Amino acid sequence: MKIIRISVFRADLPMKEGFYSWSTQSHTAFDSTVVIIETDEGICGAGECCPLGPTYLPAYAEGVRTGIAKVAPALIGLDPTQLDCVNHTLDALLKGHPYVKSAIDMACWDILGKKTDLPVYTLLGGKQQDKVKLYKVVTRTDPDAMAARIPEYRAQGYRNFQVKVGENPLTDISRIRKIAACMEPGEVLNADANTGWKQHQALVVADAIKDLPREHELLLYFEQPCLTYEECLTVRRHTDLPFVLDECMDSLAALLRAHHDNAMDLINLKINRMGGLTRARQIRDLCVSLGLPMNVEDSWGGEIATAAIAHLAHSTPTEFQFQSSAFHEYSTVCIADGAPSVKNGYMSVADTAGLGVTPIIESLTSVSEFN
Ligand code: MG
Repeated sequence: MKIIRISVFRADLPMKEGFYSWSTQSHTAFDSTVVIIETDEGICGAGECCPLGPTYLPAYAEGVRTGIAKVAPALIGLDPTQLDCVNHTLDALLKGHPYVKSAIDMACWDILGKKTDLPVYTLLGGKQQDKVKLYKVVTRTDPDAMAARIPEYRAQGYRNFQVKVGENPLTDISRIRKIAACMEPGEVLNADANTGWKQHQALVVADAIKDLPREHELLLYFEQPCLTYEECLTVRRHTDLPFVLDECMDSLAALLRAHHDNAMDLINLKINRMGGLTRARQIRDLCVSLGLPMNVEDSWGGEIATAAIAHLAHSTPTEFQFQSSAFHEYSTVCIADGAPSVKNGYMSVADTAGLGVTPIIESLTSVSEFN
């Protein structure tokens, strides 16, 4: 099998709730890139990369497309089912920039699934769980408005809430305390600062909320308080709250160092930050071997990125897949048919071959084509 054409599209993903705010950032829509790879056997694969704006990670939407234009011509003629070979070629063509490679890698997994008539979760190790636990993001706004969202999300079936903080520490304490007060016993409150606090601010917040788990019988987690690994490690050593590392978990080396330092209890595994499903699977498998649970997700996306998340999460043992995100649920635009179904705070994919999604071409804007 050979790649004969690579088509690149962009899609605007506007937020259903009007905006999405975290730390000190706020956006009304996200620019996503969809890649469709065609083969000489008539099988096509789709992948997606959405970096969540230009200032979240060292990645940006135009960069995805510029990077793909750099590598795509040399991929024509390669066998897309030879995933490690494809990744080796990508690394030889472009050093770093894992987010550029993610949608291409994802599309190749889709092709491998269709070629073998197997769902991607089978190729990633097998269906370890029938449904994948989700969290719901509580976007950053004023504390009372955030707390008011909880009953609505709970009525949709969610029990895990990722509460966006990382702005003003005193307001953030109020956000966390008000939401904690309206939680039901056993629910998960994940206070995610997305790198927004300085170290001293994170220490103040951690101290101010340490009584909440006992007071409200909830499970309270503290996620990526500060920008650097070193700052996060210092905060980690000053709090007993379960600790999640996200933005600084950007490589295998970073994971190994953090595990050695006992710097976290969980990590966020984001597919495009690692460079695609091939590398994300390596990290996932290592985390399972190390006994380290994960939030299996991506930085953002529509139906295609969510399908990739779902396949990776389905093939992760339940006790290691702490929670995931169904990003297509947050957008007003649908870019593919066959998305994972979402019900009562869980998602699941159909048992179709590949990723199970078919891009809706009319919803996409064509950018470039390589053949
Ligand atoms: Mg996070």
